[in-house]
Amino acid sequence: MLLRIGFDDTDHYKGGCTTYLCSLIVERLEKKATFLDYPHLIRLNPNIPFKTRGNAAVALKVECEDPEDVVDLVWNVISENYSGKGKADPSLVAIKGEVPEEVKCLSMRALHEFLPLSYVARVLKKVNVEQRFIKRGRGLVGAAAAIGFLESDFIDFTYELLTYRNPEFWGKPRRVEYESIEVMDRALRPYVFANIDYKKKRPLILSHGPDPVIYGIRGDFPSLLVEAMKMIKVYEPIDRWIIFKTNQCTGVHLFMRKKIPVIRPYDSLTVRGIIVQSPIVIKGGHVLVKISDGEKTIDCVFYKKTRLNVIATLIKPGDLIEVSGGVKPRRRGLTLNVEEVKIIQQVIVVEKKPPVCPICGTKMKSKGKNLYRCRRCKYLAEFVDFEIRHRNLPKYPLKQAPSAYRHLTKPREREGLESFIKKGVLIERWHYP
Ligand SMILES: [Zn+2]
Repeated sequence: MLLRIGFDDTDHYKGGCTTYLCSLIVERLEKKATFLDYPHLIRLNPNIPFKTRGNAAVALKVECEDPEDVVDLVWNVISENYSGKGKADPSLVAIKGEVPEEVKCLSMRALHEFLPLSYVARVLKKVNVEQRFIKRGRGLVGAAAAIGFLESDFIDFTYELLTYRNPEFWGKPRRVEYESIEVMDRALRPYVFANIDYKKKRPLILSHGPDPVIYGIRGDFPSLLVEAMKMIKVYEPIDRWIIFKTNQCTGVHLFMRKKIPVIRPYDSLTVRGIIVQSPIVIKGGHVLVKISDGEKTIDCVFYKKTRLNVIATLIKPGDLIEVSGGVKPRRRGLTLNVEEVKIIQQVIVVEKKPPVCPICGTKMKSKGKNLYRCRRCKYLAEFVDFEIRHRNLPKYPLKQAPSAYRHLTKPREREGLESFIKKGVLIERWHYP
C-alpha cells in the first residue's frame, strides 16, 4: 500500500526543527516500511508573518503493509517529542494511494498565498484524508502542502543533507573549519550551492541558535552531498544525518504572476510594470520605486540588505521592469519587497545640452531657461541641443545578495542548471542512523 504522511509545526527543541524529528522517524520507520523517495522538505510562502519557524514542512512517501500501524508510529514519535510548551500545534496528514488534485492545488497556493487554516481543514475533509493534530492544528496547512508539492511533473527540486548534533552539544557554539567548507565548495560547485558568501567570507551552511542542526549542504545530486559532508571538518561528533528532497533554491515561490489590482497581502509573486516616478531613496538607504500596470500602481521597496538598492536608483520613469518578491501590508497600502528584478525595456534618455555658437563655433553658456550666450562673440541663442544618453542596465535577472537569500531563492550559480534530468533515485546510504 502506497502511503504519504505529511507533518508540520512540531518545533519544540528550543527552536528545534521538524527535520530533526523526521530523522528520528526515519530511523524507527525503516523496519516497518520501504521508503520510495527521500523525505520531502518543503518550504512554504516565506512572506507569511505567523509561520512556524523556518516555515518548512516534511512529507514521507512509503510502501507498507499496514498503513494504520505506520501512521500510529509517526504520530507517536511526534507526540512523544512534543513538549506542550511554546506555540507549536503539531499536525499530521496521511494519504493512501495517489494525491488528490485538491491537495496538489493546496500545495501550490500555500507557496504563493496566505491560506487560512479553516479553508485547508475544509478541503482536507472534503477529500477525506486522515488528520491528526494537537491544539488548533495550525500545522495542517504545511503538512498537506508538503505531501502535494513535489507531485507535479514539471517542478524543479534540489537536495539538502542535514547533520545534527549530539544533544550534549545543543546550545553550544558550532565549531566548523571555514577553510574546509571553502575547499569543498570549490571542488563541488556548481552542483552544490549557496554554501558561502564569498564577499563577506562567511559560511551560509551553518545553523545558528539552539537548534540541533550543525549544518546543511544544498545541491543537485545526493551522492555529491555525501562527498561534501566528508570534506567538512567539524570539531564535534555528527550524531545523525539525513538527505531531503526539497523545493529550496528553486525560486518556485516567485512563479505566480498577477496584475496589480488583484494582488493580496502576503502574496509571493512576480509583477510587471512601468516606472511612474523617479526612485526615492528612503531612510536606511532603501529605495522606493512605484510601478504601474496600466490599471493600478504598487510601491516596490529595494532593501539595502539585498544590494538591489543600487540598481534601483538607476531605474528611470518609463522603464518597464519585472519585480519578484513578497507583498506586505503597510499603512499606505501594499508594498512589494523585491527579491529579484529584471529590466525588460529601458527608456531612451534625452538630455539637454548647450548648443554651439553658429557664428564662432564655441560652446555656449546657459543664461537661464533655454537661453544661451556665446562667451566670445556675445551671440544670444534661444534654442538648445539634445543628446541621447546610452543606458546599459543589465538585461538578465538581478538577484539579491547571498546574505539576503531565503531558503527558496534560486542562487545565481544554479541559474541554468535546473534543467538537469534528475531521477531522484534513493542512494544506498541517505541517512544515519
Ligand atoms: Zn560665438
